[in-house]
Amino acid sequence: MENMVVDFLQALPDGALIIDHEGMVTASNVAANEALELDPGGLAASSVIRSSAFATALASVRSTHRPAIIDFDIYSNPPRQISAHIANLGYDGQVLVILRDLTRAQAIEKMRSDFVANASHEMRTPLSSILGAIETLQGPAKNDAKGRDMFLATMLTQAQRMKRLIDDLLTLSRIELNAHVRPSAKVSLPQIAKQARSNLGQLAKELGVEVSLTGDAEVFVSGDGEELLQVAQNLLENAVKYGSSGKQVVMFCASNSETGTLAIQDFGKGIAQIHLPRLTERFYRVSTQESRQRGGTGLGLAIVKHILLRHRSKLDVHSIEGDGSTFSFSIPLFKS
Ligand code: ADP
Repeated sequence: MENMVVDFLQALPDGALIIDHEGMVTASNVAANEALELDPGGLAASSVIRSSAFATALASVRSTHRPAIIDFDIYSNPPRQISAHIANLGYDGQVLVILRDLTRAQAIEKMRSDFVANASHEMRTPLSSILGAIETLQGPAKNDAKGRDMFLATMLTQAQRMKRLIDDLLTLSRIELNAHVRPSAKVSLPQIAKQARSNLGQLAKELGVEVSLTGDAEVFVSGDGEELLQVAQNLLENAVKYGSSGKQVVMFCASNSETGTLAIQDFGKGIAQIHLPRLTERFYRVSTQESRQRGGTGLGLAIVKHILLRHRSKLDVHSIEGDGSTFSFSIPLFKS
């Protein structure tokens, strides 16, 4: 019987333990041992789960025979949040406790609310400028033709910034929606690089940057052409914008027997090492002021990361301060 109980607990997807009428743990499964970071068998429940709320809930379940749910923290490193469902088993005063680790779900929830807070903040800044300009146009600058032009220009710039932000947010959510579908069309990487270069020709010219294309002329990978063009464009735009002091950018295509690679190298100011691990986070910028001045949303590399994830690939970044940066990615070759 005891073995059967243990087998039964092991088959449950969550952590589970049984506490007898004296408050001792008589059985537990592996998931519970992992959640509690010890094997609680034979120990007093109060010493295993050191939470007064849990002890109170346990006593209440025993006296009322009604199940209870209680959340408590385990002060491990990092600390974890656990939700316990406590129910009477109906004989010998035994109680079944189901433990659910909420740490990951709560971390995701926090990321989501941070994201909403960041996105709202990003949206609010241009909106405040637009509102300020409208109020000035209605009041002090009502009959000032020169002032009107200036405030209208500000409104246009800020409205365009909001539009870019919304477009990028929509792009991100569209990619995330399809995250599990791996794209498999035949895509020419050099063609993508050429297209990106052509689309950003005007910007490169304005900033005095020469973009050259080298490497293999024929590299066919398995992917989504539009999305890979977006990746190449975002990377090239950054290289041209942030690396403009280097005056040139090199786009390089290559392949081995498995994958095709596109690398984009600039010779600008580079990025300090401490920033590299966080570059693809939403709204992370090395310099917010510079990014805003250059019309950035802080979402370009997050979009790149998610498109590459969908292609089962990742972004590689090498950068040396003062020498420039190389951003690259590899995608499996197209197999007919
Ligand atoms: P943004 O819209 O601000 O350009 P990205 O997500 O595309 O957002 O890039 C995040 C940040 O990474 C940029 O704000 C910039 O600080 C830095 N960065 C990206 N590419 C380069 C580069 N080639 N050289 C220097 N810094 C770069």
